[in-house]
Amino acid sequence: MVARDSGWFTELDERGGTGFSLRLGSGGHVHSEQTPFQRIDIYDTDSFGKLMVIDGCTMVSTRDNFLYHEMMSHPVLAHHPEPKTVVVIGGGDCGTLREVLRHPTVERAVQVEIDQRVTRLAEEHFPELCEANNDPRAELLFDDGIAWMANAPAGSVDVIIVDSTDPVGPAEGLFNKGFYQSCLRALGDDGLLIQQSESPLTHVQLMADMHIAMRGAGFATVTPILFPQPIYPSGWWSGSIASKAALGGFRADATNGFADALQYYTPDMHRGALVVPPYLRRQLGQAGA
Ligand code: SAM
Repeated sequence: MVARDSGWFTELDERGGTGFSLRLGSGGHVHSEQTPFQRIDIYDTDSFGKLMVIDGCTMVSTRDNFLYHEMMSHPVLAHHPEPKTVVVIGGGDCGTLREVLRHPTVERAVQVEIDQRVTRLAEEHFPELCEANNDPRAELLFDDGIAWMANAPAGSVDVIIVDSTDPVGPAEGLFNKGFYQSCLRALGDDGLLIQQSESPLTHVQLMADMHIAMRGAGFATVTPILFPQPIYPSGWWSGSIASKAALGGFRADATNGFADALQYYTPDMHRGALVVPPYLRRQLGQAGA
């Protein structure tokens, strides 16, 4: 929900009882449209640059998106021995796709985004996130990721990155056992899936439910990775890596060729992101994860 106060953008998390605000810049409320799938708003902010909001929820800002896009791509790709075919479900702002295409092992990166308007608005307001869209290895499809994954040939994908909105509306079906079974089938023997799994502080039950569904679908292990993300509720976010075989170590040299282009990810940050604090381990355990 968006609270309209002159001069500020505020997202209220009614369920969690929290809010997040950014003072608007000279451009103010730059754009608003209702697509067949969702409402998309773009704001110009004083201190975070442009801000994309979908159905009232913050999605991506100029200033802090690197935290999310780097941590939703480089850890999972480094855990795979040789990721050649990568599929991004959602990710319409194209920031995750850009990070995936930095990896020289990647031969094919398919982005399946249900709402073409997200990408068109990203091209206009976040051009820096779209700079890899013309890479010959990139395929931008505008389709429902649920249907696409259900039809993907078995064993055809090395890494799946689910960079979706929250589990409501068109994204709801991306958080259940049936979708994870489609992912498991589409993945090769070393296959890995990462999905944004909300806040490790305020959404632990949702994270646990995801982990239970992923294991129920047949994934051997599910591993959370934790990282900051100021514009999302609580400012602390997570991805969850589901692996067909037990998740082993990672290629510490996977990003050596482009380390200077990264702002957050390093092998040490990767190691730290895998450390689960005791409260979270206990709460996930108590929730049956
Ligand atoms: N980083 C953001 C986050 O963690 O909330 C997500 C960024 S991206 C804008 C989320 C995208 O998921 C949206 O563009 C939305 O259209 C897309 N999406 C939602 N449900 C989808 C589905 N079933 N298939 C494909 N894309 C979907």
